[in-house]
Amino acid sequence: MIIVMKPSATAEDTAGVIARVEELGYRAHPSSGEERTVIGVIGDDRPVDPDALRSLRGVEQIHPILAPYKLASRDMHPEDTIITVHGGATFGGTAIPVMAGPCSVEDAESTFAIAEQLQGMGVKVLRGGAFKPRTSPYSFQGLGEEGLKILAEVRERYGMAVVTEVMTAEEAPLCDEYVDILQIGTRNMQNYRLLEAVGRTRTPVLLKRGMSGTIEELLLAAEYILAGGNEQVMLCERGIRTYETATRSTFDINAVPVLKQLTHLPVIVDPSHATGRWDLVEPMSKAAVAAGADGLIIEVHADPSQAISDGAQSLRPEAFADLLRSVERVAQAVDRSLDLAAVKA
Ligand code: PEP
Ligand code: MN
Repeated sequence: MIIVMKPSATAEDTAGVIARVEELGYRAHPSSGEERTVIGVIGDDRPVDPDALRSLRGVEQIHPILAPYKLASRDMHPEDTIITVHGGATFGGTAIPVMAGPCSVEDAESTFAIAEQLQGMGVKVLRGGAFKPRTSPYSFQGLGEEGLKILAEVRERYGMAVVTEVMTAEEAPLCDEYVDILQIGTRNMQNYRLLEAVGRTRTPVLLKRGMSGTIEELLLAAEYILAGGNEQVMLCERGIRTYETATRSTFDINAVPVLKQLTHLPVIVDPSHATGRWDLVEPMSKAAVAAGADGLIIEVHADPSQAISDGAQSLRPEAFADLLRSVERVAQAVDRSLDLAAVKA
């Protein structure tokens, strides 16, 4: 249920409504917009009696949220959520940040080298996995905390934000010490204890869609994080499993405008994992931006043939620089722009 406060309602009126909601055994999630405050009433599935709240001072309207996800829905929060990270990249506004970097943090030297190159192209967020969810237990599993330390050093040296995947609830506090954005991978979209763990942090979360997850399941996964009080959630379409084998996954481009209608959270696209092929990353990045994506996350490696993971879908830095130029033209065509730092000529 959503309680819409009158434009004239005072902070005291809002506090009174919150106190009553809590007295009735529910949780209140206030959200102040430009004109008015709305209060989400969240609890278990017991129906809330609207008459218990309607007569309170400052209340204008009460209506049910029909979607099973509440805090993630546009009903609760009509305006877009805007998330700004270290180094200034801003997700959910007009400008579109591009996160880029290797699939895995392989070693310090190569990570600093690629960070420097990407920073030189204006990229504000470096990606790199320290804990890697690999299909085979014999594949490289990531550098662990050593990888996190390398990412933290990138942050210091280059002023970039860093994003990395968190695989377990136990490792969430450790990752949170080092990085600016906590990534939940496709294999963990429905790991509810992990979602609760990142929901306890106040660090932005990049929640990837499960490869067999529906859009509703993705939004309910986001709801776990939001219900924990972490309001900074971004959703990421990274391709789904279908019968098609020409590409690693099928990029569900429908998900972008569908999500933009249903939720206020920024929608990011990962064309690298969505296709599994470096030669498709540029066209799918353009398609993502044309469809309304609020950000991109792209794998880039100095020498993809030597990459420890995901070389086949990684772009060389030169190809990535070309991609930025062509995607910028599409962004301009839809009245947006890429969120790149000004680069010295
Ligand atoms: C990754 O970003 O390297 C990754 C493992 O992504 P996904 O969870 O989408 O497969
Ligand atoms: Mn990868």
